[in-house]
Amino acid sequence: MALSRVWPSSSSTSRRRSFDKDRKNAAAFGLTVTGIASCRVEGVAIRFILPLATVTLSLVLSALAALTVCFPPCAFPQWELVVLGIAQDAGIPHLGCEKGVCSDIKAGKRKPEKVACLGLRERASGAAYLFDATPDVRQQLIALNGGQRPSGVFLTHAHMGHYSGLLYFGRESVDWKGVPVYGSARMGAFLSSNDPWRFLISNGNLAFRRLDPDRGVSLPGGVKVTAFRVPHRDEFTDTFGYLIEGPSRKALFIPDIDRWEKWAEPANPGRPLILEYAARADLLFLDGTFSSPEEVGARDIAQIPHPMMPATRELLAGIARPAGAKQKKGEAKRAELWFIHLNHTNTALVMDRDVAREGMVFRL
Ligand SMILES: [Zn+2]
Ligand SMILES: [Zn+2]
Repeated sequence: MALSRVWPSSSSTSRRRSFDKDRKNAAAFGLTVTGIASCRVEGVAIRFILPLATVTLSLVLSALAALTVCFPPCAFPQWELVVLGIAQDAGIPHLGCEKGVCSDIKAGKRKPEKVACLGLRERASGAAYLFDATPDVRQQLIALNGGQRPSGVFLTHAHMGHYSGLLYFGRESVDWKGVPVYGSARMGAFLSSNDPWRFLISNGNLAFRRLDPDRGVSLPGGVKVTAFRVPHRDEFTDTFGYLIEGPSRKALFIPDIDRWEKWAEPANPGRPLILEYAARADLLFLDGTFSSPEEVGARDIAQIPHPMMPATRELLAGIARPAGAKQKKGEAKRAELWFIHLNHTNTALVMDRDVAREGMVFRL
């Protein structure tokens, strides 16, 4: 209803001026007084009650708006680490295997396991990073951010389960341009000198970004990622592990390593570096390829060395607590140990509670 129609024709100029002022006051708070004016209230009421009412109403509306937009609190980036797969490079079920977990999956008694991969995301900004590009990258990226172009991919090394998913970013697929791919200098040299990876770079699908060991990179939104070199079979490239530092927690990701004892300072060979790194983190996602050397059957374990899960638990007993267990009151800070990168032969897949599971989400 328009003001000129509701205001009495006998009203004085001062009353009209007063009303106009109140209307401006109300407008300043984003309100209209058209409906209120039809009440024909006296000048005193208009002068005092109306502004008071508009201010009160605007405060209430502002508070409600704030609750709507910022509940749960959204002032700071909320980073999450997502487990996107837990299997060794070749996945589970494994080709040629008719036993244990593999046969159970084929019989429909269990779900298949995707290849080991962590996702890092911040939902409000849409930031989404992958740690390794596995053969299951399509489903893993869909789980992470709906299957959109990732903000970046951090690679550990060039064994088939850790980088072959990059092919899905190329011309035969979505043909994304300039996906940042982080890795070691050797990883960059390998990718840029061997097809089809070389073509992914020359075609502009991948933008390789070299990481120097132990020098962190800061991602927009307050996360820092630091690569470090670990001993592993270096047929094509060297191997990185990653420390991922969020605003409130730090996670360590080492899916592949030969033996913890091999990772030590030359000056202090008896003290594996995992003890130092684990003490700096809150969440550990570590190589859980095997529980026992007997698992490999006819193959020579010396050709595919990995730490055994029981030995890792024992080594880290003073630093890491059982996965999922809460920190006890007064207890010294201990990281949460989760195993990842399990071989299809590993019985821990069925039994053990400290095996990471696809779909787990951890606040960083
Ligand atoms: Zn691997
Ligand atoms: Zn490997």
